[in-house]
Amino acid sequence: VPDIAFVNEKFMPLGQATVHVEDRGFQFADGVYEAVRTYHGRPFALDEHLARLDLSLAGIKLVAPLSRSELAGIVHEGIRLAGYRESVVYIQITRGVAPRHRRFPTNTKPTVVLTFRECPPVSDTPLGKAIRIVTLDDFRWGWCHIKSVALLASVLAYEQAHAAGADDAVFVEPDGTVTESTAGNLFVVKESRVRTPPLGPKLLAGITRGKFIEAARSIGLTCDELPVTRDDLYAADEVCLTSTTVELVAVKSVDNRPVGGDKAGPVTTRMFQQFRKVHAGA
Ligand code: PLP
Repeated sequence: VPDIAFVNEKFMPLGQATVHVEDRGFQFADGVYEAVRTYHGRPFALDEHLARLDLSLAGIKLVAPLSRSELAGIVHEGIRLAGYRESVVYIQITRGVAPRHRRFPTNTKPTVVLTFRECPPVSDTPLGKAIRIVTLDDFRWGWCHIKSVALLASVLAYEQAHAAGADDAVFVEPDGTVTESTAGNLFVVKESRVRTPPLGPKLLAGITRGKFIEAARSIGLTCDELPVTRDDLYAADEVCLTSTTVELVAVKSVDNRPVGGDKAGPVTTRMFQQFRKVHAGA
């Protein structure tokens, strides 16, 4: 089965999908996105993803060209057409095609692009190997609660992490608090208490983050939404990152200092098992 795309009202093979060179997404990164996965073939937390998409659109003053239910219809139809056991659906909306000028164009139709790709089945992705992370001063823009396609800083940070022999980077704010990684939210465990940074403009309100907070609390763990410092990371018993496609990955070192062990610690593992049981039926 070829991967498929939906571009400006039509489904097509991904290899044939194109957008105009003067699309504002290409020229200015003037757009926002979502990534949604399926469990058992059904899009997971789709309403929450579409609600966050609306917040991102509002955040860049872009009027949604489609209603939430129209977009949900395209998501379901694409998943059906792609025919994968599990899919990852990427949704991008930009301010459309217009002569290259900073001023918002008038009467320009936003560009809507979706892609549908295969996602490994849950059974093939048990709690994976732990990763190494480095801390980097946050050099992204200040509105990280908006899921903007302007990911250059994230790309450069990811590359910098790899150049330093690590797998990912987490961002540190001028006040010394750590917010999130290049593509996931952060959790730390200390003396069996779970903590994750509070929501605000410096991090994305991850859908997976919310589900892991719920999962932790539902099995009787204390889970606080409180600032986490770099020193908290160094001193943590367990550290992990969460996101839609990865679900959860444990961290084994921060700036070359060992934290936790080579695999997920006991509290992380319990949260993960509860998340899987509730959401993935596994
Ligand atoms: N933080 C950033 C910067 C992200 O890019 C992502 C997801 O791609 C997340 C957090 C996790 O969000 P979610 O759990 O909704 O996938």
